[in-house]
Amino acid sequence: PTLYLYRLLAVNVLLALLFGAHAWLLWRHAPATFGGRFMLVVLLGLTAAMAMRGLTAAYATPPTGVFAPSPLQAAYLASFSLGLLLLAIGGILLATERLRQELEHLASHDGLTGALNRRALFDLGHNEVARCRRLGSELSVLMMDLDHFKQVNDRHGHTKGDQVLRDFAHRVRAMLRRPAVLARYGGEEFVLVLPDTGAEAARRVAERLRASRPAEGLPACAVSIGLATLSGGGREDFGHLLDRADAALYQAKAAGRDRVEEAILAPT
Ligand code: GH3
Ligand code: MG
Ligand code: MG
Repeated sequence: PTLYLYRLLAVNVLLALLFGAHAWLLWRHAPATFGGRFMLVVLLGLTAAMAMRGLTAAYATPPTGVFAPSPLQAAYLASFSLGLLLLAIGGILLATERLRQELEHLASHDGLTGALNRRALFDLGHNEVARCRRLGSELSVLMMDLDHFKQVNDRHGHTKGDQVLRDFAHRVRAMLRRPAVLARYGGEEFVLVLPDTGAEAARRVAERLRASRPAEGLPACAVSIGLATLSGGGREDFGHLLDRADAALYQAKAAGRDRVEEAILAPT
């Protein structure tokens, strides 16, 4: 019987440590989602149950063995099996949440550059325009198109071309933090959304982007930029704002590329 008690003590303290360590790990790294919280609560409950079981082994347990009937014994056994079941459910919840996150990312981002895709750009753009209108603030968009990009592909191959695109997106993101958002509009066309940014500041951003150099080993590729600003909560919707930026980009191309052009003001 004493051996049984020691065994009970040792196993339960060990289990408590094990569950406790998992709870600690989850506390530090798990996402603040339902699944994460659920798992944490289950692990903490199990830790407490195992610790209690170990600590009360000496007097709360009939010294004859695991199957000796006693209410406390039953409660501990039940909490352990129920705990394991809940752990499994928690694991499935966490896995599903992760999967959903990954799918959402895939559905809203461009696979090559990691920038937002078109669909996500329009979702974000509509929200930003609504916010801009609500607050009476300013919103700028830059429509950017790499110059003579076809030649990069023709001279250096498509793989190099892909690297140039990825490098460009990387440089833009490195230069600008949130709330600026980069999206890939089409092949070698990108849109940068700049909330709370007027035409002056947006032009400075555009010039800085134009001045940045590609990573080593990659061919230089200039960029033409069309800039459009929505200010004072104007009536324009996001599609029209983009159209104006696009028209400005066309002007930049026509005027010789490698430059920034500003769109004419929207009619109010
Ligand atoms: P412009 O200065 O007038 O913009 O000339 P451009 O050559 O950049 O424009 P054009 O539209 O003629 O060519 C765009 C090229 O971009 C054609 C296409 O093969 C290439 N492209 C589009 N998407 C990708 C991509 O994902 N990877 C690579 N490597 N090339 C792409
Ligand atoms: Mg181009
Ligand atoms: Mg193009």
